[in-house]
Amino acid sequence: MSRHNDQADAAANSEYLSMVLLVDDQAIIGEAIRRALAGESDIDFHYCAQPEEAVAVAERTQPTVILQDLVMPGTDGLTLVRRYRENPGTRDIPIIVLSTKEEPTMKSAAFSAGANDYLVKLPDSIELIARIRYHSRSYLNLLQRDEAYRALRQSQQQLLETNLELQRLTNSDGLTGLSNRRYFDEYLGAEWRRAQREQTQLALLMLDVDAFKAYNDTYGHVAGDEVLRQVAGVIRDNCTRPADLPARFGGEEFSMILPSTSPGGARLLAEKVRRAIEGLKIPHSGSPNSEYVTVSIGGAVIVPEPDSIFSSIVEAADSGLYQAKRAGRNQVVMV
Ligand code: GH3
Ligand code: MG
Ligand code: MG
Repeated sequence: MSRHNDQADAAANSEYLSMVLLVDDQAIIGEAIRRALAGESDIDFHYCAQPEEAVAVAERTQPTVILQDLVMPGTDGLTLVRRYRENPGTRDIPIIVLSTKEEPTMKSAAFSAGANDYLVKLPDSIELIARIRYHSRSYLNLLQRDEAYRALRQSQQQLLETNLELQRLTNSDGLTGLSNRRYFDEYLGAEWRRAQREQTQLALLMLDVDAFKAYNDTYGHVAGDEVLRQVAGVIRDNCTRPADLPARFGGEEFSMILPSTSPGGARLLAEKVRRAIEGLKIPHSGSPNSEYVTVSIGGAVIVPEPDSIFSSIVEAADSGLYQAKRAGRNQVVMV
């Protein structure tokens, strides 16, 4: 065969390159099979004469077919077949056993140990080559299919993670990491309907930083942003129940949605948050009511009437906030 034909042949078969590992203690068999396969450019040949090394050699060379002699000194070939099957690195490699005789009980034992095929030594080379190609091809197809499944699972997992991250970004405020207005509306709507169905109390607190325009004017917008982050941190830390939702309502206004919370409980929490923010002791020389940054808080607790809409609780909490501002800021008014 010319060099050109050799290459074309290899290219045509390149998708299914066979790699044979023969395990047989008789060097003469090794030589005979080597010769039978020598003309096939798509078949690589490895030979192992030591049965006790066979599993390790198979693991290292990763053949696409194992030709396994059945009768060897020391180790019995069937035991080896079982070992290949137990070993994760060789578990799925096709095994053709080579037997000295055509014997039904031997055949049956070989197949139940995990062999895929059975040939009597020395097999005719046309049949041997055809079987090697057939088993290699199905093994490589199996590997490709497993790899495709693995890649599919991996990309599904990545998609899931990307979607979760996207959802988190869509729902959260970039400056403070709290929920944004969009998610606030969605969540409040859902909790309003639940409270309506179950006739439970729903509490809402609206918080607004006092004299924040003056803060920006005095300390600059960057310092102002940092104040918003710190205020947000206090609000987040005080939303302790799983159903509580801290959100940035917009600008320097925040809110806390507190499902199943009584007026007394909501007031206590609002007071705690107000004190904690004052307790940050962030200097605010431009404030008319304190030497530190403070917040005013309006709160409302409602058991929603049938057919009422959730904006009514926002309006109620807002009117409390307005009253807190009017009364001098840095205080809580529940309506
Ligand atoms: P009041 O005590 O009545 O609430 O007075 P105020 O100055 O806080 O209220 P006003 O609504 O007049 O001003 C709010 C200011 O908050 C104006 C705006 O520039 C500032 N602000 C809104 N969003 C941000 C922000 O993301 N970063 C910074 N640094 N400032 C913001
Ligand atoms: Mg405001
Ligand atoms: Mg304000």
